[in-house]
Amino acid sequence: MASQYKGRFAPTPSGFLHLGNIFSLLLAWLRAKSVGGKIVLRVEDLDFVRCPRPNADKLAEDLEWLGLTWDEGAYVSANSEEYFQSQRTAVYEKYFALLQEQNIVYPCYCSRGELHAANAPHSSDGQFIYSGSCKNLTVAQRSEKEKLRSPAYRLQVPDEENIFADAHYGPQRYNLAADCGDFILRRSDGIFAYQLAVTVDDALMGITEVVRGRDLLSSAPMQMHIFKKLGCKPPRYFHVPLLTAPDGRRLAKRDGDLGLDAVRKTKSFSHREKVIGFLAYLAKQIPKPEPIAPEDLAKIFRQELIPHENIIIDGGIFNEKIFDEV
Ligand code: GLU
Repeated sequence: MASQYKGRFAPTPSGFLHLGNIFSLLLAWLRAKSVGGKIVLRVEDLDFVRCPRPNADKLAEDLEWLGLTWDEGAYVSANSEEYFQSQRTAVYEKYFALLQEQNIVYPCYCSRGELHAANAPHSSDGQFIYSGSCKNLTVAQRSEKEKLRSPAYRLQVPDEENIFADAHYGPQRYNLAADCGDFILRRSDGIFAYQLAVTVDDALMGITEVVRGRDLLSSAPMQMHIFKKLGCKPPRYFHVPLLTAPDGRRLAKRDGDLGLDAVRKTKSFSHREKVIGFLAYLAKQIPKPEPIAPEDLAKIFRQELIPHENIIIDGGIFNEKIFDEV
């Protein structure tokens, strides 16, 4: 029987792919392929100014070079354009309207400065917990504020304890009101927020499991809440550790020397099997760094071996002899 598993690559092409992105894309791919499932490529270019199309083209080329294939989506499906979030505004409008009809969405006129001043930073990740200052504005107050600025739109969240089981990090307690407060579905410039777009897309694209970096673990409850309000079943969530710089920062585009282009120029990582083998070693799938093809790795993939702690990596890896036979 064909596997029902459907995973996805959901990169934001605001720059080049670096080893950190590739690590989670590789694990998403292995998870799908180890059970005979499919992968969708969805380009998360909601912010189309920061994510010009050539970046997405390059990203697709890099994935191909790595041998991380996909079965559906951008660049491969006949309706490829429908897998670029920048082209899906009409779809998001429709589901946003479904939430508005339930009277659980309200306009928020707070400026960035007001948000900083009035809302407590979240203890763990520095995000703000929205205090709900615009929730109970009268119609007259709204039209007064509307003259000064266009609103963002927030989704009301319940003040209740809940729990979900992450497939890798286990049970996660949350209370949306305490953890983030009413959150943004649509920005004041009209662009739909990541939380809404990603949820609508995961639902419509039939994604059964989301494998991604643990920096997004705190987004899962928000997304599950939108699923619930849209009457859809959420996917399973499987978060994986991050590759971080030595100071604990998550690798970012500014860590240029860990970008795929720079990595490929080094002797150690000139072939895709070496990049894959090194990352597979970091994911504890093989006992030492060894060149390996992604499809061979899929045959031996064991999700329970993936570490839980973040993994520190720096530019020094290029000065070391990584592979025995190099
Ligand atoms: N587009 C997001 C990113 O590149 C990932 C979204 C997701 O996996 O839910 O960080």
